[in-house]
Amino acid sequence: MQKEIALVTGGSRGIGRRIVEELEQEGYEVVAPTREELDLSNRESVENYINSFRVDVSILVNNAGINILGSVEEYSQNDLTLMMETNLLSTFRLCQFAASSDRIRAICNIASVWSVRSYTGRGVYSMTKSGLIGLTKGLANDLGPRGVLVNAVSPGFIETEMTSANISAKRREELYQDISLKSFGSTESIANVVAFLCSKKNSYITGQNIIVDGGFLS
Ligand code: NAP
Repeated sequence: MQKEIALVTGGSRGIGRRIVEELEQEGYEVVAPTREELDLSNRESVENYINSFRVDVSILVNNAGINILGSVEEYSQNDLTLMMETNLLSTFRLCQFAASSDRIRAICNIASVWSVRSYTGRGVYSMTKSGLIGLTKGLANDLGPRGVLVNAVSPGFIETEMTSANISAKRREELYQDISLKSFGSTESIANVVAFLCSKKNSYITGQNIIVDGGFLS
């Protein structure tokens, strides 16, 4: 039997790498384009990639994302464009593309705990990630009549390069105090949830923002 095709962005490392592995274990043929093949910060690259894609996707996981820290007052136009294109607008375009597939069954957008609250220097990141939640809910309604499930997963602090780059050792110790489970999460903790939401075991969860944060927001 022909394998279902899953398209995953940002599959080179971190959470995305683990999602790719998990979906492969579940039996999908996973397409995980490199940045050279699909540069999400570049609208033309996204359009070219979409136009050259020849197979119908069943699953889309929009995982890639960047986090350029900075106060809203001082944020540069260049960084704003980069954040909006990479985190939000390319996701919109890929969702539109996936929606045109006759085989599409599930879409999962990787947001963040910063989609539901924010913090100093994370205003623009929060703006892009809360935008993803709006997109997720709207698309769940649009695609619901076709039986397509659209959800977001919002990680808390997960051990990846992004975490190491943005969080000092001192801040890490402080954060542990605010996390019920007193540790950062693994990439597997996110990949498992994504795989479930996209699997046939999920028949009735759609339009949701599933927070996987070890109790940080509790
Ligand atoms: P990561 O380790 O920094 O990896 C980011 C991934 O996105 C890489 O595969 C990277 O590709 C890709 N990427 C970045 N810019 C791109 C572009 N312009 N075009 C194509 N690909 C691009 O990130 P992560 O920590 O695994 O995070 C994955 C997702 O989870 C992100 O959306 C992030 O916002 C979200 N998240 C993470 C955490 C956390 O604690 N780590 C918490 C909350 C939410 P290259 O290898 O080519 O750079």
